[in-house]
Amino acid sequence: MNEQSMQGGCTCGAVRYRCEGEPVMAAHCHCRDCQRSSGAAMATVFAVPKAAFTLLQGRTATYVYTGDSGQPVTRHFCPTCGAPLFTDVTVMPEVQFIRAASLDEPARIQPTMHVYCDSAQPWGECRDELPRYPKLPG
Ligand SMILES: [Zn+2]
Ligand SMILES: [Zn+2]
Repeated sequence: MNEQSMQGGCTCGAVRYRCEGEPVMAAHCHCRDCQRSSGAAMATVFAVPKAAFTLLQGRTATYVYTGDSGQPVTRHFCPTCGAPLFTDVTVMPEVQFIRAASLDEPARIQPTMHVYCDSAQPWGECRDELPRYPKLPG
């Protein structure tokens, strides 16, 4: 198997996916949806080109909400165990956002920034040197 290939899935194992190649970004996201859907101060996400992402088995349930762009954001999660898995962002159709913790080997992801720090929680502070953005960079 391609050593750049990564696989992941949900807690119960019903949903499995694979992605190929280097992530195009990886970040700690402090947005309110990541907070609510994880129950934590942030969620760590990465993105790969959509063509590099394959759903191997299972079906996700989805929840659609309006992102700060005003366009839909579709969050996919396992309907059985509830684990958050990946997200489609309408304004960035070329990439698949994936929750890093859903990987089989989450340590392979190296986040390079904090995003949506506008809604970061005082009890979720990270003492690292990574750049912080109020929303998204650029
Ligand atoms: Zn599951
Ligand atoms: Zn987020």
